[in-house]
Amino acid sequence: MRRSRQAKPVMISPMSNPLSGNAALLARSLAAVWHPCSQMKHYESFPLIPIARGKGAWLYDHDGKRYLDAVSSWWVNLFGHCNPRINAALRDQLETLEHVMLSGFTHEPVVQLSERLRELAPAGLGHCFYGSDGASATEIALKMSAHYWRNSGKPEKSQFISLQNSYHGETLGALSVTDIALFRDAYGALIRQHSTVPSPDSRIANVGETNAAYALRCAAALERHLQQHHHQLAALIVEPLVQGAAGMAMYHPSYLKRARELCAQYGVHLIADEIAVGMGRTGTLFACEQADITPDFLLLSKGITGGYLPLSVVMTTDEIYQAFYADQTARGFLHSHSYTGNPLACRAALATLDIFAQDDILNTNRSKTAYLNTIAKPLREHPRVRNFRNTGMVWAFEADTPHADFAQRCFTLGLQQELLLRPIGKTVYFMPPYIIEEEEIKILVERTLGIVEALA
Ligand SMILES: *Cc1c(COP(=O)(O)O)cnc(C)c1O
Repeated sequence: MRRSRQAKPVMISPMSNPLSGNAALLARSLAAVWHPCSQMKHYESFPLIPIARGKGAWLYDHDGKRYLDAVSSWWVNLFGHCNPRINAALRDQLETLEHVMLSGFTHEPVVQLSERLRELAPAGLGHCFYGSDGASATEIALKMSAHYWRNSGKPEKSQFISLQNSYHGETLGALSVTDIALFRDAYGALIRQHSTVPSPDSRIANVGETNAAYALRCAAALERHLQQHHHQLAALIVEPLVQGAAGMAMYHPSYLKRARELCAQYGVHLIADEIAVGMGRTGTLFACEQADITPDFLLLSKGITGGYLPLSVVMTTDEIYQAFYADQTARGFLHSHSYTGNPLACRAALATLDIFAQDDILNTNRSKTAYLNTIAKPLREHPRVRNFRNTGMVWAFEADTPHADFAQRCFTLGLQQELLLRPIGKTVYFMPPYIIEEEEIKILVERTLGIVEALA
């Protein structure tokens, strides 16, 4: 087919554009880019923020304004933007090997990363399977779990359960275990229906009931469900300790401990989705450590490359691995993505693990957490602040506000005050990069208090 001359796209070069700075990029983006998780029409009233560059905990727009990245760029960044050590590792890898397929081939970065993760993760998770985004890790774990049961002569075990308000990604399989109506309802006809069990979210404990007692009450509900349905169940999937998209719902580790026992007892896999909470976010390298458990599958993504490149990994046990190991091709796990185990992404992940070790990050984070909690006293005790809570490097609270559009107002006021805050409904949360300094923590906490007061 011949392309007509008239249809030739108009090239807008930054030089010839009558607009400049933020406005120019904004117009081009709206014309050509369909942005994720957005109703595009809303950008008419709440403009996009065109980011020119990043350094440390700060992002800079094209007009020279800066924003403190209090949400780690959607929970992925750990050691700041343009981290010199990760940059150097990537430059080195770029001159060596940018990519090779991982089916039938292998390379040093993916082997090293798998070995190091095996050393660091809860004992027994010796096999690493790679994907690209978090959702692809969820898909892999669901398929692997059901395929394990099929290979083990129990093909009827193909259902999954998740917690109420769970979030595990937005591809169809991941969405089928995600319990957030806004993301799910439009696609109801496309996804398999699975059951949910009560969330141990400590905000919904009874008055006078401890978080631990509430967690065990929810575990009892899980037990009743397993008793009834275990014959059809392949796996339970959970976000350990913090349900992020639910609004940073936090819960007591005793739920995980009990869920691990029950899953073992009833022959159901436990999938720990640590895509958001892994890599030190909850105070330990992996959240499961706080319950002293080994899940059957551990999912990592987001922070694993320090927030640089898409990479996800599903770690699993020798028992599961062995159920696929056979002469017949079809018993194998034939899933793949083109960029599985990309060497650049693996090098970024290795550099990230190096920083954890060299800078004793988990300890340093403990003092940052303590500092934030100390200076947050006026915020925590503010009459318009409810359920102020903290797990590791995650903080959240609900604002008692009359504004139905609180999230949008808070985001806008935040930008005016150099803060990138992105509330979930009336839940304001902080999930800063680990390199955030005391001075920046102070800016974050004090200005957030001002914003809450302005919107009370
Ligand atoms: C972000 C997230 C996912 C999905 O990861 P993507 O990279 O966005 O596909 C899955 N599970 C949890 C717990 C997440 O926070």
